[in-house]
Amino acid sequence: MKVLKFGGTSVANAKNISLVKNIIANLESDKTVVVVSALGGITDLLLKTAALASSQDQTYKTILKEIEDRHLLTIKELIPIHSQSKVLSKVKSELNTLETLLEGAYLIGEITPKLSDKIVSYGELLSSYIISEYFIVEGIDVVHADSRQLIKTNSNFGKAAVNFELTNRNITSFIEDSKNSVIIMGGFISSAVNGDSTTLGRGGSDYTAAIVANAINAEVLEIWTDVSGMYTANPKIVKQAMAIPHISYEEAMELSHFGAKVLYPPTIQPVLTKGISIVIKNTFDPEAPGTLITKNKNGQGKTVRGISHVENIALVSLEGPGMVGITGISKRFFEVISTAGISVVMITQASSEHSICIGIDNQDADHAVQVINDAFDIEISLGKIKPVVAEKDLAIIALVGDNMKSHQGLSGKMFSTLGKNNVNIRAIAQGASERNISAVILKEDVKKALNTLHEEFFEENVKQLNLFVMGVGNVGAKFLNQIQSQKKYLKEKLKLNIRVIGMSNSRKMIFDEDGIPLKNWQELLNNGEEANRELFFDKVKKLNYRNSIFVDNTASQEVSETYNSYLRNSISVVTCNKIACSSAYDNYQELKDLARQYNAPFLFETNVGAGLPIIDTLKHLVASGDKILKIQAVLSGSLNFVFNNFNDTTTFHDIVKEAQVEGYTEPDPKIDLSGVDVMRKILILARESGNVLNIEDIQNNPFLPKESLETTNNEDFFKTLTKHEASFQEMYKKALDEDSKLKYVAQFEDGKASVGLQRIPKGHDFYNLEGSDNIVLFYTERYPNQPMIIKGAGAGADVTASGIFADIIRIGNF
Ligand code: ADP
Ligand code: ASP
Ligand code: MG
Repeated sequence: MKVLKFGGTSVANAKNISLVKNIIANLESDKTVVVVSALGGITDLLLKTAALASSQDQTYKTILKEIEDRHLLTIKELIPIHSQSKVLSKVKSELNTLETLLEGAYLIGEITPKLSDKIVSYGELLSSYIISEYFIVEGIDVVHADSRQLIKTNSNFGKAAVNFELTNRNITSFIEDSKNSVIIMGGFISSAVNGDSTTLGRGGSDYTAAIVANAINAEVLEIWTDVSGMYTANPKIVKQAMAIPHISYEEAMELSHFGAKVLYPPTIQPVLTKGISIVIKNTFDPEAPGTLITKNKNGQGKTVRGISHVENIALVSLEGPGMVGITGISKRFFEVISTAGISVVMITQASSEHSICIGIDNQDADHAVQVINDAFDIEISLGKIKPVVAEKDLAIIALVGDNMKSHQGLSGKMFSTLGKNNVNIRAIAQGASERNISAVILKEDVKKALNTLHEEFFEENVKQLNLFVMGVGNVGAKFLNQIQSQKKYLKEKLKLNIRVIGMSNSRKMIFDEDGIPLKNWQELLNNGEEANRELFFDKVKKLNYRNSIFVDNTASQEVSETYNSYLRNSISVVTCNKIACSSAYDNYQELKDLARQYNAPFLFETNVGAGLPIIDTLKHLVASGDKILKIQAVLSGSLNFVFNNFNDTTTFHDIVKEAQVEGYTEPDPKIDLSGVDVMRKILILARESGNVLNIEDIQNNPFLPKESLETTNNEDFFKTLTKHEASFQEMYKKALDEDSKLKYVAQFEDGKASVGLQRIPKGHDFYNLEGSDNIVLFYTERYPNQPMIIKGAGAGADVTASGIFADIIRIGNF
């Protein structure tokens, strides 16, 4: 004999119920008990209408109507018209009784636990009846059993305790007497010995099925639900979670105790005692193997079997100097809690005995505080114990696995993983069985914590990087292309999974938690919502993903002013925008400090020499103890392009224009030509070498006429270039006459930096610099005479994008 239980979603509507019928019709077992939940969502609606009625809110009628409609519609869709009338009239009559009960609650303005159970039992009562009638129509040999006649309990309404002796007797004799091959009964509902309706606790249909399986010594208990088994973590929150093929009773119990709702925790006990296996299956994918729960766990393999979590937890701690050495405090504390009927989800006690801390349901927190403070009022008034307070809105997250006890370092790994992602841990507990390690964290960190831990323990080291990209112009667009084409390689070879979750330009922004499809991002972005920097930040913060990276591909001052907020929320920042690093020294230093403090890298390799590894090399030199003596560099790809192409057959204006169109200049080319851009770069290199320097400290010898420098827009700027063509030609001629070339050189030595146009003679390292190439010479204590040289393309959207990409990968390997 088998017992099959179908949950709320599996019987939510006519379509789903027909899938259930297919599963039953294909069974080969001689006799089967089918336990069903209420139609999905109905229990919640019943509780809601009862609460409204008892607070004398007329809208309870709207909810009642919804309940009626759902049932009547299901009957009409399932059962052919000629067989409908009997079923409709029975259901309508039950609904009338329900209405009378609700009216009673409305009139009195009160609801007792007893009445609440009576009302809520209609969910399973109706669903099991309707499904059995449908099965009859479909030719299945079925009989409907009223669970209230079979499952007997005490009168602890809402979560009654089963009287197994009576219950087992009732079930076995019912089964023996029934000739039908299928017996259908409602889960969750039961009755006290005096006949009052009772219920077994929310989610209790699983338990009903286990009780029946125990009574009839079933060969297997199948729990049919809306997911393909018990997963490594809640699949609604962790996208990469996978069904666990085989798990032990104890592991399943632990996971469900800590919130894996797919199985109601008390379900395990009745089947465990008889060694009956449980299989969790998916009604919507019956072929999927699901999860097998047995005594004989397959001990090998994973140490951590699953991660689960419970939300809405409050921490209550009893502490005070007077606690040390006084015996019996814990005993009194737990007695008070238990007498108040409050169940404790987790206990921790510091070894100093200075405090006892418990995790309980948020709902019980105020009550707990009151009873504890009452019980210890003498000690509190004497100052031996502090009045307790509850810290609400927390969550418990637990790693579970039978084999965890034989492995060291798991808790270290768990806590360091959470710490790295800035998940604040409020309390820690490890069960004596060492089958779970649990931590109390803030509720808003749950998603991040679950995903991070899942990645660490289950995903073969594939690390998820979540990008939020601002600026999708020249560089940004190239960057997105590169991600798109490298995605597969990175995942396979570097075990990095890069997703762009958010994207914005100055007009629009979009978010997609599954990752924005990069094939047609332009179109998606155009249809996005209106761009707003603050809202963008709020969204990134709220999504609270681990390994979040804000990528700034703009040249905007305002955007650079937001880095601070990102870093403070442990969101890394990668930027090609030079403004932040060349702003006031204190600001630069603060960003670097924040990055360290919040464990969020702040990387800006592309601020100097686009994709060339200049800053990274410099950092390594300094970190390995070398000292920078002098830096000499041609750092402006744009100015190089301009002076390498400018001669007496061209005009200065046209060459600058070309550089702008090719993306070799900043959007405002004056920033390059005035030397400001190079000043920023040498400033950043000086700072990264360990010097405190500001932009005002850099000497700039401009080559542009004053009039060009004073323009305020691109159009005027270009006009002045044409006007002063003669002076540019003169500069060119002078260099030509000396057999040298014009190069814009930056230098740093002895704490002083300068930038300016120089005539470089033949034979100099800089003389043969081509196109938009950059070159940097590092003279250091280890490279005093022959400098370390880094040379290559130092401008252009493609190389800049690849430099940003390299920073992202650095974070991935962090
Ligand atoms: P039913 O109505 O069939 O009893 P439940 O809603 O009670 O279904 O339980 C199934 C749900 O449990 C899933 O849809 C999923 O959201 C949730 N769940 C939470 N943790 C887990 C987990 N570790 N594995 C599978 N499901 C989980
Ligand atoms: N219908 C009940 C509930 O929603 C019992 C169950 O579905 O397991 O809690
Ligand atoms: Mg359930």
